[in-house]
Amino acid sequence: MEKKVIKKDALAGIVKKLAGQMPVYAPVQDQDNVLFKILEQGMEPMLDFGNTRNAPKNCFFPQAETMLKYFRTERGRELAGVVEGAPEAVLFGVRPCDARSFILLDYVFDDPKYKDTYYMERRRKTAIVTLACVHPPSTTCFCTSVGGHPMSSEGADIVLADLGDRYLAESLTDKGAAILKKFGDLANADDAALAKKKELSEKSEKEIKSIIPGNDIKPWLDANFDNPFWDTIHKSCLACGTCTYLCPTCHCFDITDEVKRDGGRRIRSWDSCMSWLFTQETSGHNPRTSQKERWRQRLLHKFRYFVDNYHAIACVGCGRCVQYCPVNIDIRKIVTDISKL
Ligand code: SF4
Ligand code: SF4
Repeated sequence: MEKKVIKKDALAGIVKKLAGQMPVYAPVQDQDNVLFKILEQGMEPMLDFGNTRNAPKNCFFPQAETMLKYFRTERGRELAGVVEGAPEAVLFGVRPCDARSFILLDYVFDDPKYKDTYYMERRRKTAIVTLACVHPPSTTCFCTSVGGHPMSSEGADIVLADLGDRYLAESLTDKGAAILKKFGDLANADDAALAKKKELSEKSEKEIKSIIPGNDIKPWLDANFDNPFWDTIHKSCLACGTCTYLCPTCHCFDITDEVKRDGGRRIRSWDSCMSWLFTQETSGHNPRTSQKERWRQRLLHKFRYFVDNYHAIACVGCGRCVQYCPVNIDIRKIVTDISKL
């Protein structure tokens, strides 16, 4: 695939020009936050930022979406607007941990037995352009402990690496190559650019200081469903759901029907295992009535069940849940504590 270089001051203009041709999701400043949004005229894509507050998963798996509509006719109830076609789009400025989250989400939404047409339609049509973390942005980053790397290309169609005076742009897929052509006439990367990237890659890995034994705790989780340890982690939890809503790999959803007199719509919306209603059954029975059980489920889903099902930990080490939990519950500490039991 292609390897090009882009002048440092040219990239923002290239992204804005692209946004005039197709939908481009990019990190933008929104008051105190950096958020992924569709780039509209007058908006500046951020190129120098830590990570976005929201994970980019909502580009393919929106917080709420209409799955289908139905309405009453003389012949009975009919369906309309089941899956609308998604446009070709670009998701720009994704950090490598978040790009990797799409590989994990694909296991769920592109399962051979259950294809999620809503997610897949957007996923197939969208090229992912990552911004490698030449300097890992936060002390809470721990991607290397859960299978990632700050300059990984996993999940990317194009990888951009800031070499200091210019960007190295590498296309990795046909979808990426097609988008890189739209970037305009770029010079080919020279050996110095490739060598610089290699050097930065080695340095960036060493800059990750937060290391957790993510791969070591599965045997303990397999054997300790009723261990008293589970009584120790949830006590300050407010059940606010922030950790799950900001997590790039959390993917639980709820489906509800909004019914009006002559029709209605079926809506899918994000759900959270932190909520007490999460597993409430229609009968009223709830198998997880306490926050202890819900926190145990969160850990087991990420570090045990997902590993059993897909041979990967359902955490990419982005650190959002650590940064934004209002009561400082730290998944890194929980995993480390378990590894010492
Ligand atoms: S963000 Fe913190 S307080 Fe909120 S549900 Fe998660 S662990 Fe509990
Ligand atoms: S569990 Fe926390 S650190 Fe891991 S991917 Fe989710 S938000 Fe990021």
